[in-house]
Amino acid sequence: MDPVSGLGAVRGVIAQACERAGRDPGTVTLVAVSKTVGTGPIEAVLGAGQRVFGENRVQEAKGKWPPLVGSHPGTELHLIGALQTNKVRDAVGLFDVIHSVDRPGLCEALATQCQRLGRSPRLFVQVNTGAEPQKAGVGPQQADTFLAACRDGYGLAISGLMCVPPAGEPAGPHFSLLRDIAERNGLRCLSMGMSADYAEAIHHGATHVRVGTAIFGARPKP
Ligand SMILES: *Cc1c(COP(=O)(O)O)cnc(C)c1O
Repeated sequence: MDPVSGLGAVRGVIAQACERAGRDPGTVTLVAVSKTVGTGPIEAVLGAGQRVFGENRVQEAKGKWPPLVGSHPGTELHLIGALQTNKVRDAVGLFDVIHSVDRPGLCEALATQCQRLGRSPRLFVQVNTGAEPQKAGVGPQQADTFLAACRDGYGLAISGLMCVPPAGEPAGPHFSLLRDIAERNGLRCLSMGMSADYAEAIHHGATHVRVGTAIFGARPKP
């Protein structure tokens, strides 16, 4: 499937899921995940009007996106992968939204670089809803304390929460857990749902769905 057809199909599924959930489609942002994808397919999708893209590696995005952003005004870049402290400066310079805030050291580096560069990307805290040891994100039990520390300790405004549910488990309970944490902390944005489950995520209140494979096709195995 070519990426423009993939994009059209995903837009259709989003519209349908919104209708079923009684939600305004304008409340759901499609983040087209373009990690590992070359500039050809990305330009095709830009040509079809898509302007919000997700990347998981700072280096890759830095090599690929500046000319594309320059030629397509209104393009918004989202960092959806883990962020190392030594890449924070580049990330703050390049990305409009960072979905993977998950530790105090990263908060400190973000606060410093945002001030230095005079930029303030919107920030999401990643929650490890399945408490998986190998996965990034703050534990669901630590989320409230961490969110308070972001605000009061580092002066960072947090827009919402992000999660990647455990593979091979129903995602629904993880989506509702993330929603509960957001609600009790007064956060409006929920970044949840990928190619396999974005319709379900919309049912649970997702405001940002991160979809790669369903648009660009399967990625090469790492
Ligand atoms: C790769 C990735 C996605 C997109 O996954 P697909 O299954 O290809 O839609 C979404 N979120 C994160 C954090 C990712 O790393």
